[in-house]
This record gives sequence, structure tokens and C-alpha cells, in this order.
Amino acid sequence: MNAKPLMIKGPAGNTPPLRDGLRAIAPTVRSVLLFSLCINVLMFVSPLYMLQVYDRVMSSRSVGTLIAITVIAGFLLAMYGLLEMTRTRVLVRAGMMFDEKIAEPAFNAIHRGMLRRPGGNLGQGLRDVDTLREFLTGAGLLAFCDAPWFPVFVFGAFLLHPWYGWIAIVGSIVIWGLTLLNEVLTRRDLTEATAASMVASQRAATTFRNIEVLQAMGMLGALRSIWSGVHLTHLGWQARASDRAGTLMAGTKFFRTFLQTAILGVGGYLAIQREISPGGIIAGSIIIGRALQPMELAVGNWKGFVAARGAYKRLRELFELAGTQPAQMPLPKPLGAVSVESVLAAAPGQRTAILRGVNFLLPAGEVLCIVGPSGAGKTTLARVLTGIWPIASGALRLDGYDLSQWDPQELGQYIGYLPQDVELFSGTVAQNISRFQDAANPEDIIAASTLAGCHEVIQQMADGYNTQIGDGGQALSGGQRQRVALARALYGNPSLVVLDEPNSNLDSAGEDALTQAIRALKTTGTTVVLITHKINILATADKILVMAGGVVQSYGPRDEILSRLAGPRAVPSPPTQQPATPANTATTQFAHISPGVAR
Ligand code: ADP
Repeated sequence: MNAKPLMIKGPAGNTPPLRDGLRAIAPTVRSVLLFSLCINVLMFVSPLYMLQVYDRVMSSRSVGTLIAITVIAGFLLAMYGLLEMTRTRVLVRAGMMFDEKIAEPAFNAIHRGMLRRPGGNLGQGLRDVDTLREFLTGAGLLAFCDAPWFPVFVFGAFLLHPWYGWIAIVGSIVIWGLTLLNEVLTRRDLTEATAASMVASQRAATTFRNIEVLQAMGMLGALRSIWSGVHLTHLGWQARASDRAGTLMAGTKFFRTFLQTAILGVGGYLAIQREISPGGIIAGSIIIGRALQPMELAVGNWKGFVAARGAYKRLRELFELAGTQPAQMPLPKPLGAVSVESVLAAAPGQRTAILRGVNFLLPAGEVLCIVGPSGAGKTTLARVLTGIWPIASGALRLDGYDLSQWDPQELGQYIGYLPQDVELFSGTVAQNISRFQDAANPEDIIAASTLAGCHEVIQQMADGYNTQIGDGGQALSGGQRQRVALARALYGNPSLVVLDEPNSNLDSAGEDALTQAIRALKTTGTTVVLITHKINILATADKILVMAGGVVQSYGPRDEILSRLAGPRAVPSPPTQQPATPANTATTQFAHISPGVAR
């Protein structure tokens, strides 16, 4: 995760989850091929029956023979139906096996990929898994498994009469040629249409996510016209593709119908010339029809094939972007000593460094307050400390272990993080506090909320801890959201707690609760990193780090830094030594700290 990049596979070959998924369905492909063998052999039943009826029964006028061959044909066709049904059931199970191998890795890959390329439309990956699964374990695979039977039916057609054989070959070449032409003429249009459609749906989703701003400031029209522009581009490409595909489809349909008539016409001619029997006319028509069937199936499934190919390509890119997460040796619970050594970091996918050579050592159990003007890089530092953003160079250690040596999920349970934009998930308050753990202990949940000072606040909610907070916590006020998120950060006694402006939405009661929580964390030996603009919270700090322009301006014990910051200016002494008044509490900001502060 941090210093060392994850192992990223080269572009050649399949990425492991895709390979595993394809391997999982390989036995099914083999059994479906076997089923297809039997099914295709049984497809000869109808033409052979026709031949017998016309050539044997008609000439002998034997009802007994007719009944006998009808019973045999009926039995064989029932077998055919049974095999078709079994083949479909096998495919459904293969689909589930494919999904089992690939769906969860894809989910994980989207998570890792989004951290590396925020804003990329990677959520599409789950739909791509569905598209690929539906094609590989549905009609697409069946068309593929039936294709090897083409030569067998062509051979059957040649046995009836060489002309039939040639009609089957030329007919399939023309149908195949029309399909390829369709692909060549519509590929670019369809790619553009899909890309525009993804952008349009992403734009619409973002627009509706910020619905309140839209309503309050009358921005709907402007944003709708931006969406509409992309949507119309999508429609334009789609219409172009559909026009071309429609023309070619009509040509294919005409050719197929004409061919059917021509086969009967040729059969009639051959029968007049006594080169085939009257039964041969019907049998020829059926056999050529069967020979052309794989081609027609391929044509019918072409759209699915193109979609599956696109999905496959995107999934491969996704897995390559996400890389693999190497197995890590489990490490003991850290005490929380943080060491940041010459850290250089940029936003994912960006080249400009935001943090430039950040250095500091924070012993376990201490409280560090980070202050500095907006855009100083404080949030970025919080992100690299929690392993959200990778670092470009330098080292970041927790208890001496580089962050990259931890398994991110394992490390996550030892870290509490309260982001600036509180992100809660749809579910109950209790679920959110317990980080959606399956077997969360109610006592731990209450302990965390008590520590965060929101136990009473939650008790007063309509359903207490069982209150559904809605998508993103809509049902809560800004302050309540921040306090629930603080409880989530403190859940499970983490070793390192990183709080990014935890008091931005808090009232004075909330701030008092926060101060008490930090003091309580200190007594339990938890390391706390706190970003704040407000001076009163500095009373809890052991150390203060002043940031500006992505570099550390000063770092040291609280009193020392405060006295340096005060300089000739009259900065209030720490609130511990002075009763809290409106003048030196919530309203006192640190935004004035300039890059020129002496170290
Ligand atoms: P602070 O928390 O001190 O206000 P930030 O760490 O949020 O500062 O931002 C520091 C700098 O990094 C800013 O100049 C900001 O524009 C830039 N920055 C922050 N997030 C991103 C991002 N996701 N992509 C590119 N630049 C970013």
C-alpha cells in the first residue's frame, strides 16, 4: 500500500482472477461440447426421418413402417430435449462458479483501483462481470460449442449432393462476411456510444448526489444541459451504429430467406434430373439449414460477443490497475509510534507533489495537533498516515514497520480515521459505529460511542442504536454525523486515531465531548493525530506540527511551538491556563499561520 507499490502484473496474459474464472468454467466447456456432440448428432433425426417417409414409406405405403420410424424419431427427439435442458442447467451452475471466482476479486479490485485512480468509472466493473458471465455461460458459449459441427453438416450436405455442399459453404461465407462487415462498420460507433453513455450516467449520478445545491441555487438547467450534451452524443453514435447494423441485418435476412428458397429450387432441379430423390429435397433443405445454424447463432450473438469482449478488456485493465495484494505476515497490534521520514506524496494519478519532504517522529500514546492554512497539505498528511494515498518516496512507519508491510484490512482495525467529509454508509447507527462487523459486540459499540461522547445523543434518536441513518447518513444532522463517525473511529480500541477537523460541525457540547475523548484516549495510550483550525483543542496536544505549502514549518512540544507562534503577536496562551471564553475558543482560527513561521 504505501512506500512500495503493489505488485502490478504486466499487460501480457490474463490477470489471476480472470484466469481463475475462465479455469472454473473450463470443465463445463468440455461437458457442453460433449452435450453438443450428442445434440448435433440427434439433429440428423429430422432429415433422416424425412428421407425415410418420402423414399421408403411413400413408395411402400407401409403404415407399420411409418409408425415404427415415428416412434423411434419421437424417442430420439425426447432425448434431444432432455440433453438441451441438462446443458442449460450445467451452464447455469458454471455461471455461478465463474461469479464465485471473479465477483469478489472484482469488488476488491474496484476498491484498490479507485484509490489509485479516483474518479475513474471503475464501478462499471461489476456490470462487466455480469456481462461476461452471461455471455460465457449462456447463448454465446452455446454458439461457440456448436460451431465445430459446421463441417459435419457440410459433409452431410455433400453426401446428399455436391451442389448442396457448395451451397452450404458459400451461404455460410456470405452470412459470416456480412457479420464481419457489420462489426467493422459499427465497432467505432459502438465504442464511442458506450463511452459517452458511461460519462452521461456518471454525470447524472453526480448531479443527483448534489441535489440540494442544485435546488437551492437553481443549477438544474445548467447541469441538465451538460448531461444532455453527452447523452445526445451517445444517442448520435448509437443511431449511426444502429442505422448501419439495420441495413446489414436486413441484407442478411434477405439473403437467408432467399437461400432457403434457392435450396428448394436447386433440389427441385436435381430431382427432375433424377440426381436426388424427392425426399432429398426436404432433407437437403434441413441439413443446409442446420449447417448454417452456427453461423446464424454467431450473428445473433454478435452483440453479446462485442459487449463481452469490451467487458473482458475493461476487467483486465481493472485488475491490472488494481494489481494483486501480496499476502502479508500478520503483525502484532501496534503501540502507535509513528515515524514519517522524508515523505514525498502526490494525489493518486497526479505528478505534482503535495507533501514535500515531511519528517517527524511521534512516540506512541502522544497527541499531535496539525495546524496550518488551507491547502497546506494537512489532509494529505492524514491520508498518507492512514494508508489511503500512497507515498512517492520516503518512509512511513508504524511501530517501526513500514505501512506497506501491513495487510490493509488488518491494519485498518488498528486505525481510527475521521475524514473531513464524514462518510457514513446506509445502515443502522450501531452498524456504522462497529464498521459493519458481523459479530460486533454491543458493549464495544456503546464503549466507543461513550468515549466519543455521543451515547446520550444516540439514545435520544427515534430507534436509538437501531436508527437507520439513510444513504450517507442523510437522516442525521451534520453534528450527529460527525459524532457517529468519531465513535466509529474510536471503535475497537485502535492504536492510532487520525481525526481530520473533527470539530468542524460540533457545537460547544460536542467540542467538550471531543476534548474529553482525546484525554481518555491519552490515558489508554492511543496515539492521536488531529487536524484542527481551532485553538481550544490544542490544550490536549503533546506536540504541535505546523504545516504550510506541503512542508513542515515547525514541530515540537506544544508550549514551545505555541510560544514561537505567538512571536510579537498576542496569541492567547493555551486554554488549559486560561478559562474558555468566546474570544479564545471556537472562533479563534489558525488560518493566519504563514509559511514564514520560524522553525
Ligand atoms: P489542507 O488539508 O491543509 O487544507 P489538503 O491536503 O487538502 O490541504 O490539500 C493540499 C493541496 O493538495 C491543495 O493545493 C490541493 O489543491 C491539493 N489536493 C488535495 N486533494 C487533491 C486531489 N484529490 N487531487 C489533486 N490535488 C489535490
